[in-house]
Amino acid sequence: MSEPKAASLQEIGSCVGGYDPKALPVATAREFLDRLVPRLQAVEKLALRSALGRVLAEDIVSPIDVPGQDNSAMDGYALRATDLAASGDTVLQVAGSGFAGGGIAGAVGPGQCVRIMTGATMPAGLDTVVPQEFVRVDGTRIAVATGVVRQGENRRLAGEDLARGATALCAGRVLRPADIGVLASLGRAEVPVFRRLRVAFFSTGDELRSVGEALTPGSVYDSNRYTLWAMLQRLGVDVLDFGVVRDVPEALEAAFRCAAGAADAIITTGGASVGEADHTRMILASLGDAVFWRIAMRPGRPMAIGRIESAGRSVIAFGLPGNPVAVMVTFYALVRDALLAMSGATATPTLALRAASVDAVRKKPGRTEYQRGFVERTAEGGLQVRLSGAQGSGILSSMSKANGLVVLGHEQGNVAAGDLVDVLMFDGLG
Ligand code: AMP
Ligand code: MG
Repeated sequence: MSEPKAASLQEIGSCVGGYDPKALPVATAREFLDRLVPRLQAVEKLALRSALGRVLAEDIVSPIDVPGQDNSAMDGYALRATDLAASGDTVLQVAGSGFAGGGIAGAVGPGQCVRIMTGATMPAGLDTVVPQEFVRVDGTRIAVATGVVRQGENRRLAGEDLARGATALCAGRVLRPADIGVLASLGRAEVPVFRRLRVAFFSTGDELRSVGEALTPGSVYDSNRYTLWAMLQRLGVDVLDFGVVRDVPEALEAAFRCAAGAADAIITTGGASVGEADHTRMILASLGDAVFWRIAMRPGRPMAIGRIESAGRSVIAFGLPGNPVAVMVTFYALVRDALLAMSGATATPTLALRAASVDAVRKKPGRTEYQRGFVERTAEGGLQVRLSGAQGSGILSSMSKANGLVVLGHEQGNVAAGDLVDVLMFDGLG
Protein backbone atom coordinates (compact mmCIF):
# COMPACT_ATOMS: atom_id res chain seq x y z
CA MET A 1 0.00 0.00 0.00
CA SER A 2 1.52 3.35 -0.94
CA GLU A 3 0.85 6.12 1.51
CA PRO A 4 1.47 9.84 1.30
CA LYS A 5 4.94 10.66 2.58
CA ALA A 6 4.86 10.56 6.35
CA ALA A 7 5.87 13.65 8.30
CA SER A 8 9.43 13.57 9.57
CA LEU A 9 9.92 13.08 13.29
CA GLN A 10 11.07 16.69 13.49
CA GLU A 11 7.83 17.80 11.80
CA ILE A 12 5.77 15.70 14.19
CA GLY A 13 7.57 17.39 17.08
CA SER A 14 6.72 20.82 15.71
CA CYS A 15 3.00 19.89 15.72
CA VAL A 16 3.07 18.94 19.39
CA GLY A 17 2.64 21.91 21.71
CA GLY A 18 5.52 22.43 24.14
CA TYR A 19 7.78 19.88 22.41
CA ASP A 20 11.30 20.15 23.76
CA PRO A 21 13.31 16.97 23.19
CA LYS A 22 15.77 17.96 25.92
CA ALA A 23 13.10 18.35 28.61
CA LEU A 24 10.07 16.48 27.41
CA PRO A 25 7.04 16.15 29.71
CA VAL A 26 5.56 12.63 29.74
CA ALA A 27 2.22 13.87 28.36
CA THR A 28 4.00 15.55 25.43
CA ALA A 29 6.01 12.40 24.69
CA ARG A 30 2.79 10.39 24.70
CA GLU A 31 1.14 12.82 22.28
CA PHE A 32 4.17 12.64 19.98
CA LEU A 33 4.06 8.84 19.94
CA ASP A 34 0.35 8.83 19.25
CA ARG A 35 0.95 11.01 16.18
CA LEU A 36 3.94 8.96 15.09
CA VAL A 37 2.79 5.37 15.17
CA PRO A 38 1.07 3.81 12.14
CA ARG A 39 -2.07 1.75 12.78
CA LEU A 40 -2.31 -1.85 11.64
CA GLN A 41 -4.68 -2.38 8.72
CA ALA A 42 -4.56 -6.13 8.09
CA VAL A 43 -7.68 -7.93 9.26
CA GLU A 44 -8.25 -11.61 9.91
CA LYS A 45 -11.39 -13.56 10.80
CA LEU A 46 -11.18 -15.62 13.94
CA ALA A 47 -13.43 -18.11 15.64
CA LEU A 48 -15.11 -16.37 18.56
CA ARG A 49 -13.08 -17.98 21.33
CA SER A 50 -9.82 -17.21 19.56
CA ALA A 51 -10.69 -13.51 19.55
CA LEU A 52 -10.31 -12.95 23.30
CA GLY A 53 -7.83 -10.12 23.89
CA ARG A 54 -7.71 -9.24 20.18
CA VAL A 55 -8.65 -5.88 18.68
CA LEU A 56 -11.99 -5.74 16.91
CA ALA A 57 -11.50 -4.48 13.34
CA GLU A 58 -15.09 -3.53 12.46
CA ASP A 59 -18.15 -2.19 14.24
CA ILE A 60 -20.53 -5.01 15.11
CA VAL A 61 -24.14 -4.11 14.39
CA SER A 62 -26.73 -6.30 16.03
CA PRO A 63 -28.68 -8.32 13.40
CA ILE A 64 -31.33 -9.31 15.95
CA ASP A 65 -33.10 -8.10 19.05
CA VAL A 66 -31.66 -9.59 22.24
CA PRO A 67 -33.80 -10.93 23.76
CA GLY A 68 -35.85 -11.72 20.71
CA GLN A 69 -39.23 -11.58 22.52
CA ASP A 70 -40.64 -10.14 25.71
CA ASN A 71 -40.02 -12.80 28.35
CA SER A 72 -40.21 -13.50 32.03
CA ALA A 73 -37.42 -12.51 34.43
CA MET A 74 -38.79 -14.76 37.21
CA ASP A 75 -40.45 -18.06 37.89
CA GLY A 76 -44.06 -17.12 38.64
CA TYR A 77 -47.31 -16.23 36.92
CA ALA A 78 -47.76 -13.94 33.92
CA LEU A 79 -50.79 -11.77 34.16
CA ARG A 80 -52.47 -8.60 32.89
CA ALA A 81 -51.85 -5.69 35.25
CA THR A 82 -55.33 -4.35 34.47
CA ASP A 83 -56.78 -7.48 36.14
CA LEU A 84 -55.19 -6.59 39.49
CA ALA A 85 -57.70 -5.34 42.05
CA ALA A 86 -57.07 -1.95 43.70
CA SER A 87 -57.49 -3.56 47.11
CA GLY A 88 -57.75 -7.07 48.53
CA ASP A 89 -56.77 -10.25 46.72
CA THR A 90 -57.05 -10.79 42.99
CA VAL A 91 -58.04 -14.32 42.04
CA LEU A 92 -56.94 -15.51 38.58
CA GLN A 93 -57.54 -18.74 36.66
CA VAL A 94 -54.33 -20.54 35.56
CA ALA A 95 -54.81 -21.12 31.82
CA GLY A 96 -51.53 -22.99 31.07
CA SER A 97 -47.76 -23.09 31.52
CA GLY A 98 -44.82 -21.54 29.64
CA PHE A 99 -41.25 -22.77 29.89
CA ALA A 100 -37.99 -21.20 28.75
CA GLY A 101 -37.53 -21.81 25.05
CA GLY A 102 -41.24 -22.20 24.48
CA GLY A 103 -44.30 -20.09 24.82
CA ILE A 104 -47.92 -20.87 25.17
CA ALA A 105 -50.15 -21.02 22.22
CA GLY A 106 -53.53 -19.37 22.08
CA ALA A 107 -55.07 -16.38 23.72
CA VAL A 108 -55.26 -15.82 27.43
CA GLY A 109 -58.52 -14.22 28.40
CA PRO A 110 -59.34 -11.60 31.03
CA GLY A 111 -59.17 -12.96 34.56
CA GLN A 112 -56.66 -15.61 33.47
CA CYS A 113 -52.94 -16.01 34.08
CA VAL A 114 -50.18 -18.38 32.94
CA ARG A 115 -47.65 -20.29 35.00
CA ILE A 116 -44.34 -19.04 33.58
CA MET A 117 -40.62 -19.83 34.02
CA THR A 118 -37.66 -17.50 33.74
CA GLY A 119 -36.87 -16.88 30.08
CA ALA A 120 -40.22 -18.10 28.75
CA THR A 121 -41.90 -15.85 26.19
CA MET A 122 -44.65 -13.65 27.60
CA PRO A 123 -48.04 -14.83 26.33
CA ALA A 124 -49.74 -12.29 24.07
CA GLY A 125 -51.67 -9.70 26.04
CA LEU A 126 -49.92 -10.37 29.38
CA ASP A 127 -47.54 -7.68 30.61
CA THR A 128 -46.52 -8.49 34.18
CA VAL A 129 -45.06 -11.43 36.12
CA VAL A 130 -45.78 -12.01 39.77
CA PRO A 131 -43.04 -14.12 41.39
CA GLN A 132 -44.32 -17.48 42.65
CA GLU A 133 -43.42 -16.67 46.27
CA PHE A 134 -46.06 -13.88 46.28
CA VAL A 135 -48.86 -16.13 45.17
CA ARG A 136 -51.22 -18.50 46.99
CA VAL A 137 -52.15 -21.44 44.80
CA ASP A 138 -55.50 -23.11 45.14
CA GLY A 139 -55.96 -25.85 42.52
CA THR A 140 -56.12 -24.12 39.15
CA ARG A 141 -56.49 -20.68 40.66
CA ILE A 142 -54.07 -18.28 42.28
CA ALA A 143 -54.60 -15.39 44.66
CA VAL A 144 -52.36 -12.31 44.44
CA ALA A 145 -52.38 -9.73 47.23
CA THR A 146 -52.51 -6.05 46.29
CA GLY A 147 -49.24 -4.19 45.95
CA VAL A 148 -46.93 -7.20 45.46
CA VAL A 149 -46.39 -6.40 41.79
CA ARG A 150 -46.74 -3.38 39.52
CA GLN A 151 -47.44 -3.23 35.83
CA GLY A 152 -44.48 -4.38 33.69
CA GLU A 153 -42.48 -5.83 36.56
CA ASN A 154 -40.39 -8.99 36.17
CA ARG A 155 -40.74 -8.86 32.41
CA ARG A 156 -37.81 -8.32 30.05
CA LEU A 157 -38.57 -6.45 26.86
CA ALA A 158 -37.51 -7.61 23.42
CA GLY A 159 -34.26 -5.84 22.44
CA GLU A 160 -33.67 -4.38 25.92
CA ASP A 161 -30.14 -5.86 25.98
CA LEU A 162 -29.22 -5.25 22.34
CA ALA A 163 -31.59 -3.70 19.83
CA ARG A 164 -31.52 -4.89 16.23
CA GLY A 165 -29.58 -2.36 14.09
CA ALA A 166 -27.75 -0.83 17.05
CA THR A 167 -23.95 -0.92 17.30
CA ALA A 168 -23.13 -3.57 19.87
CA LEU A 169 -19.33 -3.17 19.83
CA CYS A 170 -17.11 -0.58 18.17
CA ALA A 171 -14.00 -1.23 16.06
CA GLY A 172 -10.87 -0.72 18.12
CA ARG A 173 -12.18 -2.53 21.16
CA VAL A 174 -9.87 -5.00 22.86
CA LEU A 175 -12.22 -7.93 23.34
CA ARG A 176 -12.84 -8.92 26.94
CA PRO A 177 -14.84 -11.83 28.35
CA ALA A 178 -18.14 -9.90 28.40
CA ASP A 179 -17.61 -8.87 24.75
CA ILE A 180 -17.07 -12.48 23.74
CA GLY A 181 -20.39 -13.25 25.44
CA VAL A 182 -22.13 -10.32 23.72
CA LEU A 183 -20.89 -11.56 20.34
CA ALA A 184 -22.17 -15.04 21.16
CA SER A 185 -25.56 -13.57 22.14
CA LEU A 186 -25.72 -12.13 18.61
CA GLY A 187 -24.97 -15.55 17.15
CA ARG A 188 -21.54 -14.55 15.78
CA ALA A 189 -19.29 -17.55 15.18
CA GLU A 190 -16.47 -15.49 13.65
CA VAL A 191 -15.10 -12.05 14.40
CA PRO A 192 -12.95 -9.68 12.29
CA VAL A 193 -9.89 -8.61 14.26
CA PHE A 194 -6.65 -6.88 13.35
CA ARG A 195 -3.75 -9.24 12.95
CA ARG A 196 -1.48 -9.35 15.96
CA LEU A 197 1.20 -6.67 16.19
CA ARG A 198 4.71 -8.10 15.92
CA VAL A 199 7.17 -6.67 18.37
CA ALA A 200 10.86 -7.55 18.28
CA PHE A 201 13.21 -6.74 21.12
CA PHE A 202 16.82 -7.08 22.09
CA SER A 203 19.10 -6.05 24.90
CA THR A 204 22.36 -4.21 24.34
CA GLY A 205 25.38 -4.30 26.59
CA ASP A 206 28.70 -6.13 26.72
CA GLU A 207 28.13 -6.87 30.41
CA LEU A 208 24.99 -8.90 29.80
CA ARG A 209 24.78 -12.65 30.12
CA SER A 210 21.77 -14.70 29.15
CA VAL A 211 20.02 -17.01 31.55
CA GLY A 212 21.85 -20.35 31.40
CA GLU A 213 25.30 -18.79 30.90
CA ALA A 214 27.87 -18.47 33.68
CA LEU A 215 28.41 -15.03 35.22
CA THR A 216 31.90 -13.59 35.01
CA PRO A 217 33.09 -10.78 37.28
CA GLY A 218 31.36 -7.55 36.27
CA SER A 219 28.68 -9.24 34.22
CA VAL A 220 24.94 -9.34 35.03
CA TYR A 221 22.10 -11.48 33.85
CA ASP A 222 19.92 -9.90 31.22
CA SER A 223 16.61 -9.41 33.02
CA ASN A 224 15.18 -6.83 30.64
CA ARG A 225 14.44 -9.38 27.96
CA TYR A 226 12.37 -11.27 30.48
CA THR A 227 10.36 -8.35 31.89
CA LEU A 228 9.83 -7.08 28.34
CA TRP A 229 8.77 -10.49 27.14
CA ALA A 230 6.31 -10.71 30.04
CA MET A 231 4.84 -7.22 29.55
CA LEU A 232 4.48 -7.79 25.80
CA GLN A 233 2.92 -11.18 26.37
CA ARG A 234 0.28 -9.57 28.58
CA LEU A 235 -0.38 -7.02 25.87
CA GLY A 236 -1.25 -9.83 23.47
CA VAL A 237 1.29 -9.02 20.75
CA ASP A 238 3.51 -11.50 18.91
CA VAL A 239 6.90 -11.38 20.56
CA LEU A 240 10.21 -11.87 18.74
CA ASP A 241 13.28 -12.18 20.96
CA PHE A 242 16.49 -11.11 19.22
CA GLY A 243 18.68 -11.84 22.21
CA VAL A 244 21.63 -9.85 23.53
CA VAL A 245 23.48 -7.66 21.07
CA ARG A 246 27.01 -6.53 21.83
CA ASP A 247 27.86 -2.83 22.03
CA VAL A 248 29.43 -2.99 18.56
CA PRO A 249 27.98 -0.76 15.82
CA GLU A 250 28.00 -3.46 13.14
CA ALA A 251 26.22 -5.95 15.39
CA LEU A 252 23.63 -3.36 16.44
CA GLU A 253 22.97 -2.27 12.89
CA ALA A 254 22.52 -5.87 11.75
CA ALA A 255 20.12 -6.50 14.65
CA PHE A 256 18.03 -3.42 13.83
CA ARG A 257 17.86 -4.33 10.13
CA CYS A 258 16.92 -7.90 10.88
CA ALA A 259 14.29 -6.91 13.47
CA ALA A 260 12.83 -4.29 11.13
CA GLY A 261 12.38 -6.96 8.47
CA ALA A 262 10.40 -9.15 10.86
CA ALA A 263 8.43 -6.81 13.11
CA ASP A 264 6.14 -3.77 13.26
CA ALA A 265 7.94 -2.35 16.27
CA ILE A 266 11.32 -2.85 17.91
CA ILE A 267 12.18 -2.31 21.54
CA THR A 268 15.78 -2.15 22.67
CA THR A 269 17.15 -1.61 26.13
CA GLY A 270 20.44 -0.08 27.15
CA GLY A 271 22.77 2.16 25.27
CA ALA A 272 20.27 5.00 24.83
CA SER A 273 22.11 7.54 26.94
CA VAL A 274 25.29 9.48 26.28
CA GLY A 275 27.73 6.79 27.47
CA GLU A 276 30.62 5.80 25.25
CA ALA A 277 28.94 2.69 23.93
CA ASP A 278 25.73 4.41 23.03
CA HIS A 279 25.55 3.50 19.39
CA THR A 280 21.79 3.03 19.30
CA ARG A 281 21.14 6.68 18.58
CA MET A 282 23.66 6.87 15.78
CA ILE A 283 22.46 3.70 14.10
CA LEU A 284 18.78 4.61 14.31
CA ALA A 285 19.60 7.92 12.69
CA SER A 286 21.51 6.16 9.90
CA LEU A 287 18.69 3.65 9.23
CA GLY A 288 15.90 6.20 8.98
CA ASP A 289 14.60 9.00 11.06
CA ALA A 290 15.26 9.36 14.78
CA VAL A 291 14.87 11.67 17.74
CA PHE A 292 16.58 11.51 21.11
CA TRP A 293 14.76 12.55 24.18
CA ARG A 294 15.46 13.50 27.71
CA ILE A 295 12.10 12.88 29.24
CA ALA A 296 11.07 14.80 32.34
CA MET A 297 10.46 11.62 34.26
CA ARG A 298 12.12 9.44 36.85
CA PRO A 299 13.17 6.75 36.37
CA GLY A 300 13.68 6.58 32.62
CA ARG A 301 15.09 9.84 31.36
CA PRO A 302 16.88 8.98 28.11
CA MET A 303 14.97 7.47 25.24
CA ALA A 304 15.55 7.14 21.51
CA ILE A 305 12.68 6.95 19.02
CA GLY A 306 13.29 5.85 15.48
CA ARG A 307 11.39 5.09 12.33
CA ILE A 308 13.01 2.58 10.02
CA GLU A 309 11.64 2.04 6.51
CA SER A 310 11.69 -1.64 5.69
CA ALA A 311 10.11 -3.09 2.54
CA GLY A 312 7.67 -0.17 2.24
CA ARG A 313 6.62 -0.33 5.88
CA SER A 314 7.43 2.04 8.71
CA VAL A 315 8.82 0.19 11.70
CA ILE A 316 8.91 2.11 14.96
CA ALA A 317 11.88 1.64 17.28
CA PHE A 318 11.77 2.45 20.98
CA GLY A 319 15.26 2.72 22.46
CA LEU A 320 14.71 2.42 26.19
CA PRO A 321 17.26 2.99 28.93
CA GLY A 322 19.05 -0.04 30.35
CA ASN A 323 18.16 0.04 34.01
CA PRO A 324 15.63 -2.69 34.70
CA VAL A 325 13.07 -0.51 36.49
CA ALA A 326 13.46 2.29 33.95
CA VAL A 327 12.59 -0.27 31.26
CA MET A 328 9.37 -1.24 32.98
CA VAL A 329 8.36 2.32 33.81
CA THR A 330 9.03 3.69 30.32
CA PHE A 331 7.19 0.71 28.88
CA TYR A 332 4.10 1.32 31.01
CA ALA A 333 4.21 5.12 30.75
CA LEU A 334 4.98 5.48 27.04
CA VAL A 335 5.43 2.34 24.98
CA ARG A 336 2.41 0.31 26.03
CA ASP A 337 -0.22 2.74 24.75
CA ALA A 338 1.78 3.37 21.58
CA LEU A 339 1.81 -0.38 20.85
CA LEU A 340 -1.91 -0.61 21.59
CA ALA A 341 -2.55 2.23 19.14
CA MET A 342 -0.42 0.42 16.53
CA SER A 343 -2.50 -2.70 17.17
CA GLY A 344 -5.61 -0.74 16.15
CA ALA A 345 -6.97 -0.36 19.66
CA THR A 346 -8.95 2.74 20.62
CA ALA A 347 -7.26 4.59 23.47
CA THR A 348 -8.81 3.91 26.86
CA PRO A 349 -7.23 5.75 29.75
CA THR A 350 -5.79 3.53 32.44
CA LEU A 351 -7.63 4.40 35.63
CA ALA A 352 -5.55 5.30 38.66
CA LEU A 353 -6.62 4.74 42.25
CA ARG A 354 -6.29 7.48 44.83
CA ALA A 355 -4.62 6.22 47.99
CA ALA A 356 -3.16 7.92 51.04
CA SER A 357 0.63 7.81 50.96
CA VAL A 358 2.06 6.22 54.11
CA ASP A 359 5.44 7.75 53.27
CA ALA A 360 6.51 11.33 52.89
CA VAL A 361 8.12 11.63 49.43
CA ARG A 362 10.44 14.35 48.20
CA LYS A 363 9.44 15.40 44.72
CA LYS A 364 10.47 18.28 42.49
CA PRO A 365 7.84 19.86 40.26
CA GLY A 366 8.74 19.70 36.57
CA ARG A 367 8.98 15.95 36.07
CA THR A 368 6.77 12.91 36.52
CA GLU A 369 8.01 10.42 39.08
CA TYR A 370 7.03 6.78 39.35
CA GLN A 371 7.49 5.01 42.67
CA ARG A 372 6.94 1.37 43.42
CA GLY A 373 4.19 0.92 46.00
CA PHE A 374 1.95 -1.57 47.69
CA VAL A 375 -1.70 -0.60 48.02
CA GLU A 376 -3.81 -2.07 50.78
CA ARG A 377 -7.05 -1.35 52.58
CA THR A 378 -6.82 0.23 56.01
CA ALA A 379 -8.82 -0.92 59.04
CA GLU A 380 -11.01 2.17 58.46
CA GLY A 381 -11.80 1.00 54.93
CA GLY A 382 -9.77 3.56 52.96
CA LEU A 383 -6.85 2.80 50.66
CA GLN A 384 -3.24 3.46 51.58
CA VAL A 385 -0.04 2.97 49.64
CA ARG A 386 3.36 2.22 51.10
CA LEU A 387 6.60 2.35 49.11
CA SER A 388 7.69 -1.23 48.52
CA GLY A 389 11.42 -0.73 49.09
CA ALA A 390 14.46 1.11 47.76
CA GLN A 391 13.58 3.11 44.67
CA GLY A 392 16.85 3.03 42.69
CA SER A 393 16.24 2.40 38.99
CA GLY A 394 18.31 -0.79 39.09
CA ILE A 395 16.35 -2.32 41.97
CA LEU A 396 13.93 -4.72 40.39
CA SER A 397 13.04 -6.53 43.63
CA SER A 398 11.05 -3.53 44.92
CA MET A 399 9.11 -3.60 41.64
CA SER A 400 8.37 -7.24 42.25
CA LYS A 401 7.13 -6.44 45.78
CA ALA A 402 4.87 -3.65 44.51
CA ASN A 403 1.31 -4.06 43.28
CA GLY A 404 1.23 -0.69 41.56
CA LEU A 405 3.09 2.41 40.48
CA VAL A 406 2.60 5.61 42.42
CA VAL A 407 2.50 8.40 39.83
CA LEU A 408 3.57 11.82 41.06
CA GLY A 409 2.48 14.19 38.30
CA HIS A 410 4.58 16.75 36.45
CA GLU A 411 3.45 19.70 38.55
CA GLN A 412 3.37 17.88 41.89
CA GLY A 413 5.72 18.92 44.70
CA ASN A 414 6.66 17.11 47.92
CA VAL A 415 4.19 14.56 49.25
CA ALA A 416 3.43 14.58 52.99
CA ALA A 417 2.46 11.38 54.78
CA GLY A 418 -1.31 11.03 54.45
CA ASP A 419 -1.57 12.96 51.16
CA LEU A 420 -3.61 11.30 48.45
CA VAL A 421 -1.59 10.10 45.45
CA ASP A 422 -2.46 8.37 42.16
CA VAL A 423 -1.56 4.72 41.81
CA LEU A 424 -1.65 2.69 38.60
CA MET A 425 -2.39 -0.89 39.61
CA PHE A 426 -0.60 -3.74 37.87
CA ASP A 427 -3.58 -6.13 38.00
CA GLY A 428 -7.29 -5.92 37.53
CA LEU A 429 -9.76 -8.75 37.12
CA GLY A 430 -7.90 -9.72 33.97
P1 AMP B 1 22.84 1.49 29.97
O1 AMP B 1 21.57 2.22 29.73
O2 AMP B 1 23.21 0.59 28.86
O3 AMP B 1 23.94 2.46 30.33
O4 AMP B 1 22.59 0.57 31.24
C1 AMP B 1 22.27 1.12 32.49
C2 AMP B 1 22.36 0.06 33.58
O5 AMP B 1 21.38 -0.96 33.33
C3 AMP B 1 23.67 -0.67 33.67
O6 AMP B 1 23.96 -0.91 35.02
C4 AMP B 1 23.41 -1.98 32.96
O7 AMP B 1 24.24 -3.03 33.39
C5 AMP B 1 21.97 -2.25 33.31
N1 AMP B 1 21.37 -3.03 32.25
C6 AMP B 1 21.37 -2.71 30.96
N2 AMP B 1 20.72 -3.64 30.24
C7 AMP B 1 20.32 -4.58 31.12
C8 AMP B 1 19.60 -5.80 30.99
N3 AMP B 1 19.19 -6.22 29.79
N4 AMP B 1 19.34 -6.52 32.09
C9 AMP B 1 19.77 -6.09 33.31
N5 AMP B 1 20.45 -4.94 33.49
C10 AMP B 1 20.73 -4.19 32.41
MG1 MG C 1 24.82 -0.42 28.20
